Amino acid sequence: MPTSSRPSTSSGPSTTSDPAAPARRRAPVRFSALAAGALLAVCGLAAPASAGPAPTATASVVNLATNPGFEIPASSLADWGSIPGWRCTGGPTEATVTATAPHSGGSALVVTPASDDSNGECAQTVSVRPDTTYTASAWVRGTYVYLGATGTGRDVAPAWTASTDGGWQQLTTRFTTGPDARTVRLYVHGWYQQGPFAVDDVRVDGPAPTPATGAGSVPTGDRVVFLTVDDGWQRTPEAERFIADHRLPITAFPLPMPAAADPGFFRRVTAVPGSSVQDHSVSHQDLSRLPLAEQQVEICDARDSLTRLFGAAPTVFRPPYFAWNADTLQAAANCGIRTVLTANADFSWGASNVWHEGTLSPGDVVLLHWTDTLAADLQRALSAAEAAGLQPAGLASYLH
Ligand SMILES: [Zn+2]
Repeated sequence: MPTSSRPSTSSGPSTTSDPAAPARRRAPVRFSALAAGALLAVCGLAAPASAGPAPTATASVVNLATNPGFEIPASSLADWGSIPGWRCTGGPTEATVTATAPHSGGSALVVTPASDDSNGECAQTVSVRPDTTYTASAWVRGTYVYLGATGTGRDVAPAWTASTDGGWQQLTTRFTTGPDARTVRLYVHGWYQQGPFAVDDVRVDGPAPTPATGAGSVPTGDRVVFLTVDDGWQRTPEAERFIADHRLPITAFPLPMPAAADPGFFRRVTAVPGSSVQDHSVSHQDLSRLPLAEQQVEICDARDSLTRLFGAAPTVFRPPYFAWNADTLQAAANCGIRTVLTANADFSWGASNVWHEGTLSPGDVVLLHWTDTLAADLQRALSAAEAAGLQPAGLASYLH
């Protein structure tokens, strides 16, 4: 068993050796209304993006964990209660980032279980390949601290320590994914009534996922176009009615905050078969200005939020401002995304721009936004498609 750092102490503080917590609680989902106005002004597009760099296809061993050193500060907009990249059952009342005595860098995670029935678990979803071996490790400080993974498709023994004697100790465990595994859930936790613990420098070492594919249209000979609608701050009954009346398959790219504000709306407007809800980042920054690790937080945290709200993990990422680079393709892949999709036509806010010669063509991706002009914008896009002999189709079934 590859649990080299398991301490010689053979029993935990509980009568059971099962480290699974009996009473997990979900952190409350909160959102900030102030973000609506702040983001409305910045969602326009100046120009279509260039083709972007070609992906590289190396499968070197990398650390797949998101925000592994707890160095990435929380976005002021992403205030729904989690540490970037992580989801802690006790929320911000239990889990905080501290600059005091980290193992490395400038910060570490400190969890102080708030009640006797909390083990202070923090976890994240890690995208993996099937039938592949990964090594997970973390530096921890405290009493009875555990590191493990679930959802691997095979049993995994967590690594744990009875005490780190006040210093830092590295826990390491290894797992091999099952034939159907696409994600695993990596967790760290303490133990009931054992006080606070600290975590830093988490690693999930394994082969890098194949970078996502960058695309501005869909390769198909079918006479179809794809209607994609971004952001989500303005949700009008007129747009909802238009989508329902015309049975339009819609690919929605809402930001997590408007999605959490009105998940019922996004469920209704993506009710037509072929529709889906996909990833558009957390805070709508120009990702090409961010290092890979911060891009990964933006894409993975939006994925987690949308997955909780709508029950399906996104597989398509729409980069804000259509700004992306090679790191975006890798960061997206690290979050389970297979396509980074821009568009080649824009019918937002009264526009009728096709960014290639001639009229709309098979496989074109049309950009729209959830605005108060959306019903009219959809009508114009639908008329342009019909004039070209094209039908709206669902994106996800064509891409993957
Ligand atoms: Zn946007």
